[in-house]
Amino acid sequence: MTVTGQMLIGQQAGLGTHGHIHGLNAATGEVLQPAFGGAAPADLERACALAQAAFEPYRLLPLERRAAFLESIASQILELGDELIERCLLETGLPRARLEGERGRTVGQLRLFAAVVRKGGFLGVRIDPAQPGRQPLPRVDLRLRQMGLGPVAVFGASNFPLAFSVAGGDTASALAAGCPVIVKAHSAHPGTSELVAQAIARAARQQGMPEGVFSLLFDSGRDIGQGLVADSRIKAVGFTGSRSGGMALMQIAAARAEPIPVYAEMSSINPVLLLPHALEERGEQIAPAFVASLTQGAGQFCTNPGLILAVDGPALQRFERAAAEALGHVAAQTMLTPGIYRSYCQGVASLAAHARVQLLAQGPEGQGQQARGALFATSAATFMACPELRGEIFGPASLIVRCADLTVLQQVLRSLEGQLTIAIHLGEGDQPQVRALLPLLESKAGRLLANGFGTGVEVAHAMVHGGPFPATSDSRSTSVGSLAIQRFLRPVSYQDLPESLLPAELHSANPLQVPQLLDGQGPG
Ligand code: NAP
Repeated sequence: MTVTGQMLIGQQAGLGTHGHIHGLNAATGEVLQPAFGGAAPADLERACALAQAAFEPYRLLPLERRAAFLESIASQILELGDELIERCLLETGLPRARLEGERGRTVGQLRLFAAVVRKGGFLGVRIDPAQPGRQPLPRVDLRLRQMGLGPVAVFGASNFPLAFSVAGGDTASALAAGCPVIVKAHSAHPGTSELVAQAIARAARQQGMPEGVFSLLFDSGRDIGQGLVADSRIKAVGFTGSRSGGMALMQIAAARAEPIPVYAEMSSINPVLLLPHALEERGEQIAPAFVASLTQGAGQFCTNPGLILAVDGPALQRFERAAAEALGHVAAQTMLTPGIYRSYCQGVASLAAHARVQLLAQGPEGQGQQARGALFATSAATFMACPELRGEIFGPASLIVRCADLTVLQQVLRSLEGQLTIAIHLGEGDQPQVRALLPLLESKAGRLLANGFGTGVEVAHAMVHGGPFPATSDSRSTSVGSLAIQRFLRPVSYQDLPESLLPAELHSANPLQVPQLLDGQGPG
């Protein structure tokens, strides 16, 4: 397959006529060919009409067909071979090994959702059989199952061009839920987007899916993306990106005649707590591991450790020296886009210029769009007095907040907004303090982890990649792991309907062998 610059509306590829965008070589800034034609309002209209028409036939397909479609997408992505990796390398500047690993994760994610669909537990079946003889009143027959919300709009992330883009977690979980998907391609990797969209379209063709089950649109401005969220046929939105972008889409969705949920993953600084025993016993070993996590992938992870909280003293000073030393050896790395690089440099410059923030260390200077790591320190009082210090700097920069004692550390924690992760480094002797802190930590983050760092998000059943605002727009959900399917489902209850009219999963004989909560007994 080749990159043509064409969008895909259902099975039809076509060159958009509404302006165009180009991919850029992340390492050199060179403009990559071809140009990608921007979708016009008529293209958006067609994609939405097709998605709406596809919704019912798609969601009513047997679960096995839906699962086979997801698996077929995975196979088709692998079939793209090195062409996909080569294009993605150019557009993102991410290393080959990282991209190959990310492709494995993307394919694994699709297969995980295929397994989830086959098992049928996501349908959440509950059956409360009628009790005609119940006194004083008979009980009706109630049967509940989850169904897809309708067509979903997906805005992929720049920092996960495969695993959180066209066929990434949002798309996989929406398709698994029975929802057609329209992706607004991220302008940072249009060629990668087109190749993956072609793979999805091939899988849809091979598996005989309704045509509008998937479309990909390029946007030469913001109208198409915003129009997609505003379109009455779209019933939910998945987004990963900046706080401003997520908020803009949330406002559009809330202002619609029929407001819809926007699952936006936005901004998190992922505090790392160094408890006194851990700091004393192994602070100098934690430091290089922290720097490795901070600088991995040029720090372009939503779970990047942007904040360290610890009690001030000699052990913290040793940690700071070891971290500064380690950072000095990490070469600068190419960032994803000129915009992300610019905003990283601005963020670092404003911390460096802050009168009450100390620059502890910087990595070696880079060239072009390469980011050098940066480590800062400040006092708890300054941190709490200056809200600008609590914002995310997307890239390899982190701020150490020196606290007078654990009570002050707790106050700093209270001042924080919602987070995706909080990492706690603890020794045996720190357990009582951590136990006391847990209720506060639980109220602040979607994932708490011990003696590690939040970078590296396992795609699994018990994963939560979410958290209170602004980490996400809806803390009740996760965008990674099998639970992500719940975002695109809603429950429907059937009262006293003849069994012959009910979906098979609600039949008493359970012909699909799905988990059923029967009269409050069993899974569920
Ligand atoms: P972004 O600028 O928010 O873009 C994400 C997607 O949303 C893109 O497709 C973009 O379109 C679109 N978009 C942004 N603002 C919009 C608006 N007002 N109306 C309509 N569409 C809009 O994010 P990014 O470029 O991927 O990453 C930049 C920033 O996102 C980073 O600095 C970082 O802070 C944050 N980020 C956070 C996470 C996280 O998980 N917390 C992950 C990745 C990135 P275009 O393609 O046309 O720009």
